[in-house]
Amino acid sequence: MAKSGKEFLEDVLRQFNEATDVLGLEDGLREFLKTPKKIITVSIPVKMDDGSVKVFIGHRVQHNNARGPFKGGIRYHPDVNLDEIIALAMLMTWKTAVVDIPFGGAKGGVKCDPKKMSRAEIERLTRRYTAEIAEVIGPHVDIPAPDVYTDAQIMAWIMDTYSQLKGAPTPEVVTGKPVNLGGSEGREEATAYGVCVCVREAAKKFGISFKNATIAIQGYGNVGYNAARILHEWGAKIIAVSDSKGGIINRDDLNSMKVFEHKKKTGSVINFDKAENISNKKLLELDVDFLIPAAIERQITEENADNIKAKVIVEAANGPTTSKADKILSEKGVKVIPDILANAGGVTVSYLEWVQNLQRFKLSREEVLKRLDDKMVKAFDEVLSYSNKYETQLRKAALILAVNRVAEAVKFLGIWP
Ligand code: NAD
Repeated sequence: MAKSGKEFLEDVLRQFNEATDVLGLEDGLREFLKTPKKIITVSIPVKMDDGSVKVFIGHRVQHNNARGPFKGGIRYHPDVNLDEIIALAMLMTWKTAVVDIPFGGAKGGVKCDPKKMSRAEIERLTRRYTAEIAEVIGPHVDIPAPDVYTDAQIMAWIMDTYSQLKGAPTPEVVTGKPVNLGGSEGREEATAYGVCVCVREAAKKFGISFKNATIAIQGYGNVGYNAARILHEWGAKIIAVSDSKGGIINRDDLNSMKVFEHKKKTGSVINFDKAENISNKKLLELDVDFLIPAAIERQITEENADNIKAKVIVEAANGPTTSKADKILSEKGVKVIPDILANAGGVTVSYLEWVQNLQRFKLSREEVLKRLDDKMVKAFDEVLSYSNKYETQLRKAALILAVNRVAEAVKFLGIWP
C-alpha cells in the first residue's frame, strides 16, 4: 500500500509526462488527459457491532472515459488516501488502453482497517458506500471490481445494494462477483494467468529457454500463488517465493501446491521443509531469469535496484518499482514488463464478465483463458513493437501506446460543447 500517495501520484504523472513528450501532444490535451473527470468523496456512517457509530471516508475517482465506461477496483485499507486513488485511477485508464478493451479508468477506496472489523460491519460499510456512490456508478457508466482487501462477497453486496436501489437485478454493475452470481469462470486466476503469458512471451522474445527458466516470486497471495502454480504446470522452475513473513528457496524447484498447503496450515510460506528460509530482501536480489513482484507497491527502489540480478522483472503488483529504480534497472539492461501490461489479465477477464452479464451468457473457463491469452499476446507484441519503434524501455513504450490510444479517442470525440 502506498504510504505516501503523493510520491506515488508524482511518479505516475512523471511517467505520463515522459510519454506525452514523445507523442508531442499539445498542452491542452495533456491537461485534459491527466485530470480526473470526476472525484467524489463521501462519508460513510456505520453502526458498529457494539452499538457505536463510526464515520469512514470513501472516494471514487473517475479518471477518463473516452474509450468506454470507467472501470477499476475498490480497496479497503487504513492507508487509503485521495492521491493514491487518483494515481491508481489514471493507471487504470492506461491499463485498459494497453490491452485494448473498451473501458476507461477509475478507482475507489475506503479508509478503514478491515482486519479489525467483523464481516457484518464490512457488509454495512459496503452497502452504505455503494448507496453513496450509486448515482455515479452503473453498468454503462462506471463498473467497480475487487482490489486490496475486497473480494467476491463484497462485490455481491455492491451488486445487491445497487440492484435494490434501481429496482432490478443488475449483475453488470460490478465484476469479480461469485461465479454463481454472474462472476466469470477464470476470474480468480486471470491476473496470474496474464502474468504467466508475459513470462512465456518474454522468454520467447528475449531468448530465454522457458523450460529451464528460474523464477522468484515475491508475494504468495491470489496472484503470486496462482502464477507459481501455472508456471509450474507449464514447466518453468519456481526456485523462491515469499510472503509478508519472509521467503523460501530451493534451487531444484519448489512444489507450488505443497507450498500453498503449507501456507494454509501455518499461515506463511516460511519453514517449508523442502526449502531454506531467506529474507524478502534477498529474494528480490536473487540471480534468476524472472523476478515477479506480486505483493505491494514500491519494493524495488533506488536502494536495492543496483543489486537486482534478474534478467526480466514482470510486475504482477501495481507500482512495485519506483521511477528512480526504473532508471537504474534500465541502465543495467534489466527488462521490466510494466504493471499496466503484466497485470492486465484481471481487468481483461472483468471485461469478459461484463460482456457475459450484459448478454446473459456464460463462457467456459477454457474459452475465457483462450481469449485472455490472445489479448495478452497481442498487447505484449504491440508494446514490444512500440519499444523498438521509439527505442525505449517497455514501461515508456506501454504508456506511449496507451496514452496515444486515449488521446486519439479524445480527438475523435472532440471537446463538448
Ligand atoms: P493478496 O492479498 O492475495 O496477496 C498479497 C501477498 O503479498 C500475500 O502473500 C502477502 O503476505 C504478501 N505481502 C504483503 N506484504 C509483503 C511484503 N512487504 N513483502 C512480501 N510479501 C508481502 O493480493 P493479490 O490479489 O495477490 O495482489 C497482489 C498484487 O497484485 C497487488 O499489488 C495488487 O494490487 C496486484 N493486482 C492484483 C490483481 C488481482 O486480480 N488480484 C489485479 C491487478 C493487480
